[in-house]
Parts: sequence; structure tokens; C-alpha cells
Amino acid sequence: MNVARDTVVTIHYTLRNGSGEVLDSSAGGEPLAYMHGGSNIVAGLEEALDGRPVGDRFSVAVPAAKAYGEHDPGLVQQVPRRAFQAAGEVRKGMRFTAQTERGPRQVVVTHLAGDMVTVDGNHPLAGQALSFDVEIADVRDASAEEIAHGHVHGEGGHHHD
Ligand code: ZN
Repeated sequence: MNVARDTVVTIHYTLRNGSGEVLDSSAGGEPLAYMHGGSNIVAGLEEALDGRPVGDRFSVAVPAAKAYGEHDPGLVQQVPRRAFQAAGEVRKGMRFTAQTERGPRQVVVTHLAGDMVTVDGNHPLAGQALSFDVEIADVRDASAEEIAHGHVHGEGGHHHD
């Protein structure tokens, strides 16, 4: 069976950044199961998987625009330190949910200067070209229920109580 829209695809993968550093890998752990065609994984990886057979192994380089997007300077904000009072001491690398012009977003503190704190609401991998080494472990048809829910059930997927 080949990867196609509304199939559940199980992959082993290793994700590297542009410097070749491993950021994430399923090696030695659970493979990833996702529903193909639903934008559940980054666009460049989904495109590369399309039409491939079970057992296929390949590597793909994904530009930032087809991974987690370009780094958007509009999501970097300066916030007065007093806005963080409830959080106690503010340190570089701390994560918060912040109200932004585009709704609540996860932000990370990237810089501290005087009374001002710089927070960045971009995805941590925004602006980065990525590469994936992939092995397709399984492809099956999604069930009607999975298609209705838009996610995978059972092994490697979503579990409902
Ligand atoms: Zn469900």
C-alpha cells in the first residue's frame, strides 16, 4: 500500500537542523502515526511522503517555509518586566502563554535588558531549514471515525477515554 490521502502512515524518523544536529528521533522509541493529507505533520515532509510505498526509506531537506515557517519579526515583542510579576524571577529561556495581537501564543524569553523583557512567539524551529531521515513502517486506510475526527486512533495515535 502507498501513502495517500486518508491513509494512516506510521514512520520512524530522525529530524536534523541545518547544521546536522539531531533535534528529534523516534529511534529506540515509538514510531509516529499520522493521518496523511490533513496537515498533521510539516508540509515539506508530508509532500515528500506522498505516494511512497511501505518500507521505503528516504531523506528529505525541508526549507523553513515548508517546515515551521519563516521567523516572523512581528511575533517578537518587548514587554515591561513588571508584566511578569506573577511568574516571579524572569530568566532567558522561560516559556509563557502571552496575549498577542493574534491571540494567545506560547512565547519564550529571549533577552533581558533593564526593565524590558524580549519575548519571541515564533515556533522554536521557525526560520530553520530541516532534514528528515524517514522509514515508512506501515500504511493503512484510515477508519471512517478517524477521518471524521481528523486524527489517528489506537497505536501511536489518539486515545479517547
Ligand atoms: Zn478521535
